[in-house]
Amino acid sequence: MNSEQLLALDKEHVMQTYGRFPLALDHGEGATLYSPEGRAYIDFASGIGVNCLGYGNEKWLDAVTAQAAKLQHVSNLYYSEPYVRLAEQLTARTGMKRAFFANGGGEANEGMIKLCRKYSFDKYGQGRSTIITLVDSFHGRTVTTLAATGQDVFHQYFFPFTEGFVYADADDLESVRALDDGTVCAVMVELIQGEGGVLPLDRDFVKGLEALCAEKDWLLAVDEVQTGVGRTGSLFCFQQYDILPDVMTFAKGIGGGLPLAGVLASEKTAEVFTPGTHATTFGGNPVCCAGALSVLEQMDEAMLQSVREKGDYLREKIAALPGVREIRGMGLMLGVGLEEGYEASRLVGTLLEKGLLCLTAGHNTIRMLPPLVVSKAEMDRALEILEAVLGSAT
Ligand SMILES: *Cc1c(COP(=O)(O)O)cnc(C)c1O
Repeated sequence: MNSEQLLALDKEHVMQTYGRFPLALDHGEGATLYSPEGRAYIDFASGIGVNCLGYGNEKWLDAVTAQAAKLQHVSNLYYSEPYVRLAEQLTARTGMKRAFFANGGGEANEGMIKLCRKYSFDKYGQGRSTIITLVDSFHGRTVTTLAATGQDVFHQYFFPFTEGFVYADADDLESVRALDDGTVCAVMVELIQGEGGVLPLDRDFVKGLEALCAEKDWLLAVDEVQTGVGRTGSLFCFQQYDILPDVMTFAKGIGGGLPLAGVLASEKTAEVFTPGTHATTFGGNPVCCAGALSVLEQMDEAMLQSVREKGDYLREKIAALPGVREIRGMGLMLGVGLEEGYEASRLVGTLLEKGLLCLTAGHNTIRMLPPLVVSKAEMDRALEILEAVLGSAT
């Protein structure tokens, strides 16, 4: 099927929920994707921060195909090795205590929200269920995670939303304290707000939040759906903030392209979920977990260091380009803040036409989430395209 036929079938038979770019993708190699007609695109999006090992990673492919041939699914009524080994790896490498596996970020966040409320219910009874989240956050598209998302544009159409979410300002600990009305059980944050504009939280704010949560017995709940799995140059972003969450979620990058997500509970919250209190049919799928085990095995210190180095390289080069006001983010999670007169959404469309896939984010930002294995040659080609497009943008 060629691109034109494919786009026509989508328009006719698929619910039009996505503002898709007029581009079909067929296969990939490294950090380069190809259309059905064979045109190459440097991938600075990775899906949306999903394909961390790029395309055609042989170890990942071997792990996934071997598991698919052996056993493709097992109910959570039984045990199986891939999810057990994955939980062991994740806890060993984070200092967290136990894992629960889900299928996507929004669903993992639902689990984390349930855990926070049950932790408080078990200890204090009813009436302590409010969760503080931050303005400009993004936590998912379910009715509850939309309520958790601190952006008004998401609080439309689907009323009534789940109660019990209030919004503080990022980097303003007083605005968090001001929401303490005796009903709070948790504070939920992204350490770098991804969809909201690639906005890293201030270190002192995060340390202050950790201390405030400890003081009030609120859970510090960290959404690492986008920042996790090597994206920022450490396995999880919290490790660079020198904190330990009480509970956290991960998703996007973990399966190397397969749908997998989860919640990690600390020592303090490891026993909140008991039999019957939380579940999902597909959670911990063996094929997805086999893929994730390969992702984690390859996510060693050398890989993490290369993420930091590539991030530094891109930052330095991009900072010198026309129209660039600032670069935010960590590792290979980068947000390019533009000068007045430059429009991120229009630029990302032009970049695509020239063969570079980027994303947008809030605050007029070009967001870049390349596969962590992106090569020097691919980065340099991307920089050439960026320079040409930004140079002729106004
Ligand atoms: C993408 C994202 C989500 C939602 O994940 P889905 O897999 O789309 O449900 C939640 N939180 C953050 C921080 C995200 O970036």
